[in-house]
Amino acid sequence: MSTILGIGECMVELSPRNEGQLDKSFAGDVFNTLWYARAALGSEWNVAFHSGFGNDAMSIKMKEFIENAGISCASSPIISDRVPGLYMIHLDGAERSFSYWRDTSAARKLMQDAETLWAKVRESDLVFLSGITLAILSDTDCERLLNGLRDNTRPNAKLAFDPNIRPRLWNDMDRMRTVISKAASISNIVMPSFEDEQVWFGDATPEDTAKRYQALGATQIIVKNGEDATLVLHDGEFSLHPVTPVSGVVDTTAAGDSFNGGYFAELLQTDDVAQAIKSAQSCAGTCVCFNGALVPFERLTS
Ligand code: ADP
Repeated sequence: MSTILGIGECMVELSPRNEGQLDKSFAGDVFNTLWYARAALGSEWNVAFHSGFGNDAMSIKMKEFIENAGISCASSPIISDRVPGLYMIHLDGAERSFSYWRDTSAARKLMQDAETLWAKVRESDLVFLSGITLAILSDTDCERLLNGLRDNTRPNAKLAFDPNIRPRLWNDMDRMRTVISKAASISNIVMPSFEDEQVWFGDATPEDTAKRYQALGATQIIVKNGEDATLVLHDGEFSLHPVTPVSGVVDTTAAGDSFNGGYFAELLQTDDVAQAIKSAQSCAGTCVCFNGALVPFERLTS
């Protein structure tokens, strides 16, 4: 059985429905990516999520939701004195803003019982994490995670990293840049969003972003750029992949996550980068036409 493993945080999501009412769901960047990969991968693939969960009623519901989607949480530690992180979406016309309560979430303790995580990493064909995964850990756990991934990822397996830069999760911008660069330096695949990289690393063009990550050692760099073409730098060769316009865009939440999930699923099955970009863009094109982070599976299988 082949395995894709994602390491990160899933939160409770509260979004406005009618006046005074809220809908509840679950979301978080790495989990969202696994959701889209799960939808596209056959049953011969094991999709696994490593996080930290409490044992309160909400944590139990969250875990059930993830496992009912066919994503295993078996390696994740139970952090009995912690509860899930939570965020709320506010709508002001078409403008969305977010409030977060995640400073003491169970997921921040995902490095508890690291030996179980390393065992899972050693059996995985692709391991995925993001800058958010690293931002929520203590400095020590962040270092342990990166060193452990470097030492335990199988030589023929892929380590994939999305910097997903969220400055408000980091209290020191220099450290943020250092940690993101270190994570990229141990990864084969790096999947940045140009808009963020431009602001926080000062890249003038998507080519600059790709070259910076190549210089750190990555061999497959996929620079997402919203509606603009996706830039790929693979084994030293640049290629540009235009995004097919879609009509009916309502919500770009999780565009990058759905792109990543579609990309991994195709790459793992065909090892064809150009084909994987097509699948990724198509998956993201569907995602942006739905409200919320997760498109129901029945709407994803073409
Ligand atoms: P992130 O969500 O990480 O900022 P982007 O905004 O760059 O990522 O979007 C990721 C991908 O989603 C793009 O590469 C593209 O394929 C798709 N996408 C984003 N916005 C649109 C849009 N308005 N129309 C069609 N596809 C889009």
